This record gives sequence, structure tokens and C-alpha cells, in this order.
Amino acid sequence: MDTSLDTPMLRQYREIKAGYTDAILFFRLGDFYEMFLDDAKVAARELELTLTGRGKDENRIPMCGIPHHASESYIQKLVSRGYKVAICEQVEEATPAKGLTRRDVVKIVTPGTVLSASGVAEQDNNYLVGVAVLKNGFGLSFLDLSTGEFKVAQSPDRSQLDIQLEQLAPAEVMVDSRSELRFKEGILINQVEFLSPERASDLLRTHFEVASTAAMGVADFQECLPAAWAVLDYANYTQKNGVPHIIRLAPHRFDDAMLMDRTTMQNLELVHSRDSTAKHGTLFSLLNYTKTAMGGRKLKTVIQTPIFNQRRLDARLDGVENLIKDSLTREEIRVILNDVYDIERLTARIVSGTHNPRDCVALRDSLMALRPMAMILEPLDSRLLQRHYRYFLALNDPGSGISKIISLIDLALVDSPPLSAREGAIIRDGYNGMLTQLKASFSEVREWVAGLEDVERNATGIRSLKVGFNKVFGYYIEIPNSNRDKAPEHYIRKQTLANAERFITPELKEKEAVLLNGSERQNALEFELFQQVVRTIAGFTSDLQELASMCAELDCIQSLSTASQKNGYTRPQFVEGHGLHLSIRKGRHPIIEQTLNGGFVSNDVDMSQDKNRFVLLTGPNMAGKSTLMRQVALIVVMAQIGCFVPAESVSLSLVDRLFTRIGAMDNLYLGQSTFMVEMLETASILGNATANSLIILDEIGRGTSTFDGMSLACAISEYIHTEIGARTLFATHYHELTVLEQAYSALSNFTMEITEVDGKLVFTHRYIQGTADKSYGIHVAQMAGLPQPVIAQAQALLDGFEREGVEFLKKKVI
Ligand code: ATP
Repeated sequence: MDTSLDTPMLRQYREIKAGYTDAILFFRLGDFYEMFLDDAKVAARELELTLTGRGKDENRIPMCGIPHHASESYIQKLVSRGYKVAICEQVEEATPAKGLTRRDVVKIVTPGTVLSASGVAEQDNNYLVGVAVLKNGFGLSFLDLSTGEFKVAQSPDRSQLDIQLEQLAPAEVMVDSRSELRFKEGILINQVEFLSPERASDLLRTHFEVASTAAMGVADFQECLPAAWAVLDYANYTQKNGVPHIIRLAPHRFDDAMLMDRTTMQNLELVHSRDSTAKHGTLFSLLNYTKTAMGGRKLKTVIQTPIFNQRRLDARLDGVENLIKDSLTREEIRVILNDVYDIERLTARIVSGTHNPRDCVALRDSLMALRPMAMILEPLDSRLLQRHYRYFLALNDPGSGISKIISLIDLALVDSPPLSAREGAIIRDGYNGMLTQLKASFSEVREWVAGLEDVERNATGIRSLKVGFNKVFGYYIEIPNSNRDKAPEHYIRKQTLANAERFITPELKEKEAVLLNGSERQNALEFELFQQVVRTIAGFTSDLQELASMCAELDCIQSLSTASQKNGYTRPQFVEGHGLHLSIRKGRHPIIEQTLNGGFVSNDVDMSQDKNRFVLLTGPNMAGKSTLMRQVALIVVMAQIGCFVPAESVSLSLVDRLFTRIGAMDNLYLGQSTFMVEMLETASILGNATANSLIILDEIGRGTSTFDGMSLACAISEYIHTEIGARTLFATHYHELTVLEQAYSALSNFTMEITEVDGKLVFTHRYIQGTADKSYGIHVAQMAGLPQPVIAQAQALLDGFEREGVEFLKKKVI
């Protein structure tokens, strides 16, 4: 190493970097963050920065830098690509006398622990997840640092764990370094040694200041606590100044939810479209009439976790119905929510210290906006909305935490404070005696300076004399050149401009010192007072989090009601108890109907009777099979999130798990062929479906030879029908399978009707009992514009096959 590079600063850099080997270290130097060595190379590549260097030849140290004020977007970019960024700041004032300034890492930004407003999408949760391997199954803990949600849950086996992880879509995962857990590529995994349940429980109790884990409501989750502690400890480590807004750990039960794997959510385009250029929207975009970011996030979660619990589901449906019937009240709720900011994230920012004074005022305005909510909710009678009414009523009590926050911010802060907390002009006049005194002590001086211009004009007789201030020279008296000669003796020349001269006087300098010193003290005092206000607000974190969650729920209910009313949906009827019931009258596909302007053909689907539990759906290409099957799945999802449904009537019994296998989704980059993916998905369905599940299969076995495929399709159908007993819609072009109807009591053949008018196919899009006589594949190929000779030859071959079977081809070729 070139000794010229072994500077104290670089030594300091190396020492600090040694503690953060897995992060890119942003090293603060003046107005820049600098990166060195490998960090510099990575950052230059990812952020398209110019790589510079210090030193020569082989000793050259690669470096690159970014201006400190623009760092936010660079950090976000790195984090969104899965990197961790450690922010190293000067931790003492730089003074030439002291030599090297002390520096330390003040925060680590990682994908699962981003807190800044720009770092997390408004309507998405951002989860840091811990997974512990238990004797039976897995323990799970998840934390959204931006909202304060912190939960533990259990999973009985690996396949359920995978489904649960897909629902959470973690940004980062903590696992025990001694476990052999493997995850899909693309998730940032942190390995740490998990503590014993006893030790984790002790530390959690200390953190939450409770006497026992039972007091937290997580007594049944003892074995999951090491995962919870790993998550909390890591969050704490990244934030450096603690995570005070994480104030409770709550149990989460996945059994209350209908389970869907990621493929199913993607196939049904619940919150993301499969094709980014698609013109039609997702179920989320269709149902999203939320007014707040909290409501938007909640709606996404609601759509991804339909309910599997009759009581909870009825409560939500009653609430939605209540607001459909009372649309006036709904409108009033919407008007109020329109003025409510993201209380959940404002709270997280305020409590964790990443706030600015405007966040506090935004919080106060949101809390104020919610004042009339109780009065508006009063006439509503559903159990859920009555609970909201009582909650908002109690909020208006002057003794409630929320009322206290409002009065405090009202008293303490000015109406429109600046963004920075260090430059004064935050605290309202009269809030603090010391501040009032301090301001009064130099108000005289301020008045003196304000009056100086008049005084000096009179004394000198120069009408064009001005008193001004700039940051370099402070206060000055300016006289234009034309009057320069008239400047009095005691004026001291300070600066010469092109057409004027600037002067100071000893007295002016003296007053200036008082003012500058005074405003510095004022700013410092205002900052301290502001911190006190913030600390008091932080003491009400749980009130604020509860309020945020009530607002999110209310917003979500009104959104479902609004969408239901706008689109003419009806309330689904649930048939008590387990069993096999699904009956849809005049059902519509909620998204496609939007694009067809009234041209959508509704259909009845009845899978209630024992003979229609397994529907084998045949029909030509383009007849509407996929649309019908997705429609059934979407109606079930909508019903179980507590939304009304696009049908004349729907009755069903609760579905515990929903599976869809639709089309071929290549996963070639993961080294899996189309057919392999198809079989993996099918294996997961056969392994996880129960008699209360709904299975949608759009073609099976097409990616292999005809006989292999048909045999598999047949065996799979038999297994589902006889062993699993799940309600199933299976669309296939293997017409041969329709004979199964004769062998299996609960299996029926259905088809999408077509008629031929003047030799032309007409798709009526009607779902009827029966089988398609043929696939009309050649017809569709002709419509698609295949060359005429190919069509003619295909038709001749088809005729031959239908007459003589495969033997025909041999004859034809040999
Ligand atoms: P393939 O076997 O080729 O996959 P399919 O039978 O699954 O075809 P779909 O993709 O469901 O056919 O439907 C084809 C088109 O028909 C859709 O794009 C849609 O526009 C229209 N369609 C489907 N169902 C209806 C309906 N009920 N009312 C009106 N139009 C419909």
C-alpha cells in the first residue's frame, strides 16, 4: 500500500467499513457522500456515476461520490435493487483544531427497513420477515417498519409457508444461520443466530415493557418468538436510534384467511396485471375507490387475503351493505377521508425521528378533519360501523390521546412551519415563556435596525441611502456614488460596488452581533421545544396506530360499497357449514364486462349438486372458457373479501383455498421447462387442495405428447374427483375425457355454446351442459390467417384421422 494513501481519513474509513461489510458505505465528506474500493465500483455501475480514484497505478483506490442533498434518490435506487446502504456521518462539529472529525454510521437502509416517504410505495406494505424452523412446521414473524405492524404466525408445513410468504411478499428475510432453509432467488436473506424461545421472550418482554408474553397475546406462539426477536433486533440495528413506534406484537392467524398461492393471484390479476401493456385493470384497480393511502394498502391486503371465517365475513358484508344503502353517509365519509393524510406513516416518521415540522401539522390537520366522523357514522347500524361510531365518538373526548395531540400541536406550532426544524419559525408566539422573553430581549434591537434607514437618511440628508443585509457582510448602509461625498466621518467603508459604496458603523456591528446571537439561541430553543412536542406525540403512538387502522378499515369498506353500487353488484349469500355449494345466477366477469360496454353475456354456473362438483369444460378455442372460469374464481374471491358480486345472485359455502392453473407460464430463467412448471403447479394443487377448495384448471398436459398428456389429464381428474372432492372447473381440448362423465357421479360435461350460421362460427358465450363436438381449431387458424394450402391440408388430415385414427397418418406418409 502506498503510504501516501494511508491517511488518517482513509484509516478511519477502513475501520468503519470493517463493521459493515455487507453494506455499501456512504462516507460523509463535506457536502458529499463518498464511496471507496469495491463499494465505489458497485455504486458507479448501479447508479451510473463516474468512477474516479486516489493514488496511482496499482495503488489507485477507486472512489465515487454523490452530493449529500441528492442522496435520497440514490439510496432508494440501491435499496430497491437489493443492496444495503450504511450512512456514515460526521458525529461532531468539524473544527480545524481537532484534526480528524469523528464519524459513525447513523443508519442502515435496507430493502425491508426503509422508512422515508419516497422509499416505500404508498399503497404497498413493506415487510421484513423472520422464519424459524419449529419441531412441527414453521414460525413466522413479520414487521412493516413504515407502519408499525408487527405480527407472529405459524405455518404447519413448507407448502403453506411458501403460500404465506407469497402473500406477504417480503422485502427481506431473517433466518437462523443454523437452519437449512432455502428460499426462491431474488429475496434478500440475512442469516443470524436465533435465540432460544425463553431468551427471545425475555428480550421482547423488556422491549414492550410487559410482564409476560401472555400479556402480549402471543402465549401460543412461544416457539415463534426467536423469529420475532430477530426481526425486531435487526430493525433496531438498522435504525440506530431505536424503533419506538413498534409498540406491540400481535398474533396473526392465517387459518382465518382463504389461501391463494402467487400463481393464482397472478392468474386472476388481483393486484398486478400479467401484462404491463394490458388495457384492462386488476381487481384492485376495479374496486379501489379509497381516499387515503392507508385505505389503499388495506384494500390490497384485503383482496389478497379473502376471509375464511363466517362471522368476520358477515360483519364486513353487513358493513358494506350498510354503506350501499346509505349512500349519503358514504359520500360524507369520503369527503372527510379526502382530507386525511397517511396517519400511519406520518406517525412512524414522527416517532422514529425522520420527520419534519410539516409532518406534525399534517398530522394535526388529519386528526382535526376526523372530528365530525362520529356524528356522520351515528345513523349506521351494522355491527362493524357501530364499532367505528363508538370509537370516533370516544376520540372527540377532550381527554383522549388524539384530542391531546391536537391541542398540543395547536398550541405549540405555527400553522405553516418550514421544512427544517433547525431554522426557527416553528413555535407559536406565547407557547413558551423563555422563548417569548428571548424574542423580547432583542426585539428592541430589531426595531432599532428597522428604523435605522430613516434615522440615517434624516441625519445625512441622503434620500437614496439604504440599510441592507447579506450573509457575507452582515448589515450595511449603502450610499450611491452620486452622494458618496456626503458620507459622514464615522461611517467605515466596507465594500465598493460599481455604483455604490457600502459602510458600517460600530454601533450597527454591535446590534448585529446581538441579533445574530439571539436568533441562533432562538432557533436552538425552538428546536428543543419542537423535540419536546414530538416526544409527547410519540407517547401516543398506540392511539395513532389504532386510529390509522380504523381509518384504513373504514376507507376500505366505503371503497367496496362504492364499487359495488357503481357496478350493480349483489350481496353473496353464504350457505352455513362446510360442503359443496356454489351457485351463480347470471354471473359476469367483473373486469371484462367493463371493456364490453354492456355486450357481456352473463352465465349461470351451478356446482352445488353432487353431480356438478367437477365440471369438465370443452368448447372451441375463443368460445369463452377461460373467461368463464376466471369469472367463477373472481366472484368467489370478491364474495370472500366481503364485497358484493357481479351476478344476479350467488350462493356458496366458504372456500378454504383457491387454486388456478392457467396457460403456460415459462420459467425458463429458473431452468424449468413449460411442462415442468405445469406439473409443479399441478403437484402443489393436488398436495394442498381439500374438499372445501376451488380448483380452476385451464388445460393440463398440453406440453407433452398427446397420449402422455391425455393420460395425465385423465388421472389427475380422477384423483381430484374421488380423493380430494374439491369443486373443480377443468377446461380441456381432450374431448376424449368427456366419457368420464359416465364413470363419475359428481363429474359433468359442460361446454361453451357455438352455432354455425352459413358455415361461419358464431360464439354465443353461453355456458351450457353438454360436450363440444369438435375444437374448430382449424377454423380459428384460418381466422388467424394461416396460408390456404396449410389449412386445406390440415382439413384433409383431420378428416382422415377422424375416419381412421392415427393409422391414417402412416398410410399417408409411407
Ligand atoms: P382458448 O381455448 O383459445 O383459450 P377460450 O375459450 O378460453 O379460448 P376466452 O379467452 O375465454 O376463450 O374468450 C375469448 C374472447 O371472447 C374474450 O376475449 C372475450 O372478449 C370474449 N368473451 C368471452 N366470454 C364472453 C362473454 N360471456 N360475453 C361476451 N364476450 C365474451
